[in-house]
This record gives sequence, C-alpha cells and structure tokens, in this order.
Amino acid sequence: MALAVSAVAPQRRPPLRADLATLAGYHSPQVDATVRLNTNESPFPPPSRWVEALAAEVASIPWHRYPDRHALALRRAIGDHHGFGPEQVYAANGSNEVIQALCLAYGGPGRQVAVFEPTYRLHSHIPSITGTGVVVGRRTPALALDLDEVRDVMSAAAPALTFLCSPNNPTGMIDDPGLVAEVARLSEGLVVVDEAYGQFSRWSALELVDDDRPLVVTRTLSKTWSMAAARLGYLVGPAWLVAELEAVTLPYHLDALTQVAGRLAFDFEPEMRARVGAVVGERARLVAALAALAVEHWPSEANFVLFRPRHGDGLAVWRGLLERGVLVRDCSSWPGLEGCLRVTVGTPAEDDAFVAALAEVLDTPLPGPEAPRP
Ligand code: PMP
Repeated sequence: MALAVSAVAPQRRPPLRADLATLAGYHSPQVDATVRLNTNESPFPPPSRWVEALAAEVASIPWHRYPDRHALALRRAIGDHHGFGPEQVYAANGSNEVIQALCLAYGGPGRQVAVFEPTYRLHSHIPSITGTGVVVGRRTPALALDLDEVRDVMSAAAPALTFLCSPNNPTGMIDDPGLVAEVARLSEGLVVVDEAYGQFSRWSALELVDDDRPLVVTRTLSKTWSMAAARLGYLVGPAWLVAELEAVTLPYHLDALTQVAGRLAFDFEPEMRARVGAVVGERARLVAALAALAVEHWPSEANFVLFRPRHGDGLAVWRGLLERGVLVRDCSSWPGLEGCLRVTVGTPAEDDAFVAALAEVLDTPLPGPEAPRP
C-alpha cells in the first residue's frame, strides 16, 4: 500500500542530507503474491511449543518498566548456544541493525568499507546511510571471493571494515576457512563475516573469533530460526568491541518482547536443525527441477538458489512468474548478475508452484521490455 505524502510546499521542506538524495533505497518489493519466495525467510512457522512458552512469559513482563538495557539473559542464551560468554555477544533489532551499529562505531565520514560484489546489497547501503565510503571489489566470473582482489582493495583503500558473506547472498556460495582467516590477517580494520545463513554452511567463522583478532560474525533469527517477524540479530566478537558498541546503541533498543522471544528460541535448537534439514532436502529437489528445465543455476549452500533463465531476460521471467502468483527476487540488473533471479526454498507445495510456473513461463513468448522495472 502506498502511503500519502503530506502536501507541504517543497520550499518549506528541510533539505534531505545531500548524500542521501542520490542514494537509491533498498527495497525488496512486498508485492502481494500467493507464493512468496523472495526474501529467504523460513517456509515453516516456529515450533508451537515456542509460541506457547512465549505467550506464558509475555503475561509476566512488567510492561510499565523499561526492559533490561543490556539484554543479558538473551545474550547469555546466545553465548551458551555458540560457546561464548555474554560479553562477546551484541544483539539488536535484526542483523541489519547490528551492521548499522558497526558502521556507526567504526565507519563514518572519511572511512571506507570494502565489499566484494555481487553480494548482499545492504553491505553497501548501510555504510552509505551512515556516511561511510564504499569501495567495491569484484568476485571472480564464477562469483567466488578472490584473494588477489581482496589484497588489491585492502592496499588501495585500507578499509575500516571489510564485509564478507558466507553463505553469500545472493549466490549461495560459502568462503573457505583459510580464505577468511587470510582476509582477517591482511585487514588493518574490522572484518565482518555475515552468516545470516550460517546454519546451512559446513563451517563457521565463529571458530576465528578471538579477543586478539578484529573479526566479528553476524547472525540472525530471521531465517532458520523462523522468527523474521521478531526482528532479532546479533554478533559474536571480541569483548572489547561489544563494549565499544555501547557508544552507538540507543538506550533500551531491544524491547522486552524481542528479548524473551529470542531467549526462548534457543531452547528449540533441535527443532531448528530439523527445519534446516527439511530445507536442504527441498533445495535438492528445486535444483534438480532447474536442471531438468536446463536453467543455469549456481551451487547453493543456503536456503535460496540463484538462477539465470535461458531467455537471458530475467525481468520478463520475473514478471511471468508474478503473473502466475509466484514472487522471487529480481537480481537481473545487479552488476555481475545480468539476467539472474533468486528463489527462496519454500515448502514442497510452494516449490512445486514455482517450478510449474517457471516451466510455463519458459515455454511462453516473453513480453517486450516496455513495462516499468519493479
Ligand atoms: N545479512 C544477509 C546476508 C541477509 O540476507 C539478510 C536478510 N536478507 C540480513 C543480513 C538481514 O537480516 P535481519 O535484519 O532480518 O536479521
């Protein structure tokens, strides 16, 4: 739904920060569709016992009081889950907010972040809204991280922060442990390994977290934990860094409900692992279907698959899928991903609907390019 903008005369409006005016917003379109496979959420709801436990605790929240400013019980639960202390855990409203806190604390005017495209677009967008410069390195033609390119970017720009993403969104590919350790060794600034899809990976950069190494791992409860609606993300990193983030964190930034929801989630780890297993099985079925349709796709170790429809016109295929009630992510205009789309692994019924729609679209003459981009 489009919200009405008030009719204040343009000359009465305060000028938007000049560097924001040129910045395109980041929006995955929230289009109405029967089958929504565009934002990499879990296709399964959280366990019903978690919902019951949450309802029971909500009744005893002292709502007239501010929540625990340090979210200690939540951070302890997260730390216990990964084998770290609460002092090595920082939590915020989604891992995007964690990234924002890192940029506010270690980026800002006159400083740069390094990203290696194609990757998660908010790794450039969030630095930009915090006034941090962005230097862009490229991945190889096979979309892998390239150590020589990392070296060149580091020596040219000396970035204050370097973002890695493993598994990488939108390619689904993981970086190997030696490569990530080498990037951390080369970096004079902070290395941020975004593991939003970490539960699907064979290894985690959590094994590199150490008070002597400026490296953090970010995670989210929005994906495999089935809690996208709760908005909770966190990082695990050196204790000194977690303490320093206090400087950019608003008082009581995490509400009591989110804290409880997150703390309880970690009581349901086996259920979360079962959901990961189900998604991995379903992903194999989806990949086999893409192969059967002779659609180019990339090997995924996450809950989504990047593919390039054979027409080479990703946008037209995106529209064709939407006309059939299936929404996927259009990456076709992103540098390095010309013609590509990304589909989230859904329930078996959703994946069947996607495959059937794609098969139909690929046999259908595609419309011309005159319609506007999403
Ligand atoms: N990192 C990556 C790589 C993601 O794909 C996403 C979600 N699209 C996020 C971070 C942000 O997740 P959230 O803010 O919901 O925790």
